[in-house]
Amino acid sequence: MAANWKMNTLPGGAGALVEEYGDEMLCGNPELVVCPPFTHLAALGLTLGAAGCLGAQNCSEHLSGAFTSEISAAMLRDLGCRYVILGHSECRLRNPMESLRIPEKIAQALAHGLTPIYCCGEDLPIRQSGAELDFIARQLADDLPPELKLNSHKLVIAYEPVWAIGTGKHASPEMAQQMHVFIRSRLKDMMGIEAERTRILYGGSVQADNAAGFASQTDIDGVLVGGASLKPADFRAIFGAFAAKGQ
Ligand code: PEP
Repeated sequence: MAANWKMNTLPGGAGALVEEYGDEMLCGNPELVVCPPFTHLAALGLTLGAAGCLGAQNCSEHLSGAFTSEISAAMLRDLGCRYVILGHSECRLRNPMESLRIPEKIAQALAHGLTPIYCCGEDLPIRQSGAELDFIARQLADDLPPELKLNSHKLVIAYEPVWAIGTGKHASPEMAQQMHVFIRSRLKDMMGIEAERTRILYGGSVQADNAAGFASQTDIDGVLVGGASLKPADFRAIFGAFAAKGQ
């Protein structure tokens, strides 16, 4: 499970929010990754400790150098991050060049020991036209770099239909399951048997009252949660649905 705090909370309040999640979530199974804004990473790394899973919301495609305002994968790793979200639709929509940078970003993450949480997903017109499978096949082919063939067990994929993110309109569990099966089959074609072990998360308006439906699907290994991850009671309920799946 991954919590994407987006650009919410202040650094001073991050530790308290994580403590409200509770020990069960922080040390538990399923594995929880907390992805706060960059400014919170150093302090949260200390709160979470060595066992905690810290993730960032993006990284540069460059190793280092004259890239004002950018943050490298090496910097994130040095702060204790183990994961980084890449290709989130909110980044792709804000920056038309973002999608072109995803393969290099994934390669940088892998080179520095970070597990990419790679996001893909179609927008509403594509879903309405029935072209979502072709769209996702193209996105995977364009975004996933050759380095992944050797590291596919380290990849986490988040299927996040753009029309479901922050809208309150989630995909049905069956719709998400169908897409996850498709993504896994594409990964197998692209990378071979290792794709069996790739964790595929669903993201898009996951809430306390719909999480169990997603958890009930065989190929939904977890969820990437935005808004509800800022509400500890709701997030605990979502966590509970996936903890029950693992038993
Ligand atoms: C997200 O930010 O990736 C996300 C899925 O947001 P929300 O849960 O708010 O739809």
